[in-house]
Amino acid sequence: MNAQVSCPQCRAVVPDIDGPTHAYVPSAPGCWSAFGALRADEMLRFPGSETNNLVVDTYMAQHPGDGLDRRDRQSVFVHLVSLCAVIERDESPSRSPEVLRAVLARQIEFPVIRRARGPGDLTVLSATDATSVEDHDTRVRRWAGSVWESWREYHPKISAALDASH
Ligand SMILES: [Zn+2]
Repeated sequence: MNAQVSCPQCRAVVPDIDGPTHAYVPSAPGCWSAFGALRADEMLRFPGSETNNLVVDTYMAQHPGDGLDRRDRQSVFVHLVSLCAVIERDESPSRSPEVLRAVLARQIEFPVIRRARGPGDLTVLSATDATSVEDHDTRVRRWAGSVWESWREYHPKISAALDASH
């Protein structure tokens, strides 16, 4: 049996592998690899699904790091703004890149934000192995909602940043 490890950021139980991670996304390598596999799978099986962007926003928002590096503060913040647009304002996830650009253009300083509670009950693993595009979209939206909820105390701040970017 292969060893498993719990991702320090999202708590997904993943294979304990050596492998690459992102410079400022402190996932377990097995978790980063599951994210890569999900991205590859959705590109292959569900190309053009609007929730493909939501996978990136959700994953990044669930792996915030300690916020000491400016890029890591910026990453979690802008991806949360994008989640806010989809979940609270009912915007299409396909607009996500536009939202990200607008926030980056307006916002100069990004606050350090810390989750007061856990990362939520759902992880990248809950969105893996969907059986159809509808199933994929449902799973991704459920995961996104859980991650958004885990940042509850920052909703006003994030919502204000979204308003300011328009
Ligand atoms: Zn993780």
